[in-house]
Amino acid sequence: MKRVFHFIPGFPSMSTRDSRHLAQTLATAAAAYQTSAVIPHCPSCAAPCCKLDKLVLELDWAQVKGLWQLGESRKEFDKRLAAGKGPIEIRPANGLYYAHSKPCPAFDASCGCTVYTTPLKPVGCSDFPVYEDGGEITADLRCEAVDLDALKATLNKALGPDARIRQTADRDFPFLVTLSVKRY
Ligand code: SF4
Ligand code: SF4
Repeated sequence: MKRVFHFIPGFPSMSTRDSRHLAQTLATAAAAYQTSAVIPHCPSCAAPCCKLDKLVLELDWAQVKGLWQLGESRKEFDKRLAAGKGPIEIRPANGLYYAHSKPCPAFDASCGCTVYTTPLKPVGCSDFPVYEDGGEITADLRCEAVDLDALKATLNKALGPDARIRQTADRDFPFLVTLSVKRY
């Protein structure tokens, strides 16, 4: 997803520095929530996101090459995909690749992601299911570990007593919830 910075209603005179500080506070709180509430649930998850049956994984060429352990050049791989002879779960678009409908090759049902601490891990894997974007938090309810009330409590604690969290859902994708911040 393209990250676009925009000002938040309720902060008409917020300086760039304050906006950055808010974004950093939200990003830190989102990361803390993932660490404390999401990742511990992953080993017992009933519907692991890495199976890619609901989610689409965005990858660059280096990640496709590394994860699918390809020995060929990108040109050869693209030709193979175009001929319908590539991995059926990968689609190319806009210079990137999108995997869906088969488990990620790095997914190990017993120990999770085998590339989690390496550059092969796509950025979307770190972001999912809760991440800061443009001074707001996006929470993806396709992850069964996300508890919106607990997440809002985490954000409120990080932001202090004069902050109010406003919740809206995406009209086309209602499982994507945006939490924006207003000050009293
Ligand atoms: S859907 Fe959520 S809980 Fe399940 S494996 Fe993915 S991040 Fe973990
Ligand atoms: S790279 Fe790791 S975290 Fe990302 S989809 Fe594959 S197994 Fe899951």
